[in-house]
Amino acid sequence: MRCAILADIHANLAALNAVLDDIAKQGKVDEIWCLGDIVGYGPEPGECISLLKKLKAICVAGNHDRGAIGKIELNYFNPTAAEALEWTAEKLTTLDTLYLEELPKTMDKGDFMLVHGSPSSHLFEYIISTSSATRNFAFFHTRYCLVGHTHVPLAFRQEGGKVTSLLLMPGRSLILDEARMIINPGAVGQPRDGDPRASYGIYDSEDSKFHLYRVSYDIRATQDKMVQAGLPLQLVMRLEEGK
Ligand code: ZN
Repeated sequence: MRCAILADIHANLAALNAVLDDIAKQGKVDEIWCLGDIVGYGPEPGECISLLKKLKAICVAGNHDRGAIGKIELNYFNPTAAEALEWTAEKLTTLDTLYLEELPKTMDKGDFMLVHGSPSSHLFEYIISTSSATRNFAFFHTRYCLVGHTHVPLAFRQEGGKVTSLLLMPGRSLILDEARMIINPGAVGQPRDGDPRASYGIYDSEDSKFHLYRVSYDIRATQDKMVQAGLPLQLVMRLEEGK
């Protein structure tokens, strides 16, 4: 089985479309897994939801997905994120809201647990260090855990009681062997690792490998839509900076 693994789309339809085109180029995938934050920050929340629905993507909820439907108070978010979420809430249709409401916080798919933040704090914790990863290995029972939220493609491997981090880069595949791992495919719609290209992964059960891909997309098209929508300028600028 081949699965495309997407996270943090953040209502960036141009980035999502570029990723879907790239996935098609890599060969057929059987399923698309989405690790939350479909909406928030970006200008096309409803369009991204519709596309994921059409593709029958398997999604878990992110903090922005919950914030946009009033399930997390906006004062939890920083001021620009909160402003974008208020804008998003106004744009969502009843069906969009229903879709976001029904997203589960976690899901197990074979050897993988899918969650947005971390196994111990589903919507809020950022797994960005070996210490946070180490603590979290005790909170899931599958061999591997897929997370998003940090917008940085990074993996953590637990072996002999020791946890090491591995930066995920295109062209270098991650072999999924018996060691337990926490894997983050990076962000489709708002990368924060200094590379503004959209990030996603493909897992292939045939060779047990995870491949990371980076895809250029029309950043300007998304930025123009954000400016037209009156979304905060800081959010517009960070797309081209990739941070
Ligand atoms: Zn996010």
